Amino acid sequence: MQDLLFSEIQIPKKIEINDLLVSMRKYCQESDVERAQLAYDFAAKAHEGQFRRSGEPYIYHPLITAHILSQIQAEPNIVIAGIMHDVPEDTAVTLEDIEKNFGPDIANMIKGITKLGKLKYRGMERYIENLRKLFVAMAEDIRVMIIKFADRIHNLSTLDSLPPEKQKRVALESMEIYAPIANRLGMGEFKGLLEDMSFKYLEPKEYERVVKIRDQVITDKHAYLKKVIEKLKLEMNQVGIKNNIHGREKQIFRLYQKLKRKNWEVDKIYDIVAVRIIVEDVGNCYAALGIVHKLYTPLKGRIKDYIAQPKPNGYQSLHTTVFCEDGQIVEFQIRTKEMHEESEYGVTMSHWSYDEKHKTRSKKDLNWAKELANMQEEILNNMKDLEEMKVDFFRSHIFVFTPQGDVIDLPEDATPVDFAYHIHTEVGNKCNGAKVNDQMVSLDSFLKSGDVVEIITDKNRKGPSPDWIKFVKTHAAKNHIRTQLNTSRASWIKNLFDKKASK
Ligand code: MN
Repeated sequence: MQDLLFSEIQIPKKIEINDLLVSMRKYCQESDVERAQLAYDFAAKAHEGQFRRSGEPYIYHPLITAHILSQIQAEPNIVIAGIMHDVPEDTAVTLEDIEKNFGPDIANMIKGITKLGKLKYRGMERYIENLRKLFVAMAEDIRVMIIKFADRIHNLSTLDSLPPEKQKRVALESMEIYAPIANRLGMGEFKGLLEDMSFKYLEPKEYERVVKIRDQVITDKHAYLKKVIEKLKLEMNQVGIKNNIHGREKQIFRLYQKLKRKNWEVDKIYDIVAVRIIVEDVGNCYAALGIVHKLYTPLKGRIKDYIAQPKPNGYQSLHTTVFCEDGQIVEFQIRTKEMHEESEYGVTMSHWSYDEKHKTRSKKDLNWAKELANMQEEILNNMKDLEEMKVDFFRSHIFVFTPQGDVIDLPEDATPVDFAYHIHTEVGNKCNGAKVNDQMVSLDSFLKSGDVVEIITDKNRKGPSPDWIKFVKTHAAKNHIRTQLNTSRASWIKNLFDKKASK
């Protein structure tokens, strides 16, 4: 079957720098490839004499991390940062050295990764603290998260060399935290890898069971899928539609979920292996659908136009299920190359180019902040299922966002005034109104996790209102308001005396 399948990301066991350079040359400029070589020399020297628990030289890990990133065609600086991502944490070389040699952009990404540290599941408090760091780091620079995914994917692939309780911890984190974030970012390929690789350690028996089922289906369908693909190619070539057609197996964990929903009735699942058709433009997607339907009879009610009506996470494709050769049922997925890349590697890659010119904050960033807020909710919901998560931390804390996407951590029932003073004393003192998620709200309203809060200031405002003391929750806000009221009272009294004196 391997000949028909299209595997997106390879995680090699062994690697040489040249493998990375070859992969980069497919989409990078030669100057970027040269910088990658320099970064490798730099990192290899820094990690010299270090070995992974699995016994391989340490440099394999960052190199494979970078190789994974190059396969999703991440921008060159992301790949280069990937090569050096463990240097400041694990070696004597400092961030300053990296900045001096490779510039601030790469150094800042590595700083973000180092700041995140290694998410270690050692006691609740530290774990939550790390999770908070994760969100802050994401809000600061989403590229840090993308490198973290690749780092985690490689770590999952070498999990066998760790003791069982550590395997579980890493797998659990990946499943409960990393995978939902990847999903939210629309990075389907990363999400699938994170889930499948974790599932293997969390539910080894179930994993084996599903793999067996899938392999059987793949073997059974091989011969006629091959026929179908050849026939389609011929037909499309004849009418001059450029195409890339391949078989695509369903990811293990997703298949597991579907099997459970369908009471393990394998016959009722038509997309265990699907046929994927990638064409050049939207017009050709519909033309390809026409060809499929001309050759094979579609099943009623199974034609889905996610191009005209994309899924909530932005997914676009045409889906149809048809009776193929010998009455076999096959699902087809038809899309353009752009749709394909977006669904596998995420909107992040296409919409978040980090050129200098994109450094200014835009409306898009606001959406991103909202997106992040939704994500947080989803992850927090997942976390409720975790045994170790039975703490009230999230009940007593909320995370809200500035319009720029920065994460602000406040106590429960905090108000816009608390938020304003958290940003800056002067923002608090001049606070005249507030918008939450684009709606005007009163200053004493309660904020909720995920709210995007914008403070409206009036520079002519004299200072805080004495009423604010009654509803603010943070000590900082209370202190600032008291100080401010005292000083203004003091100056009012002083004024009064001055006036009297001058009479
Ligand atoms: Mn690492």
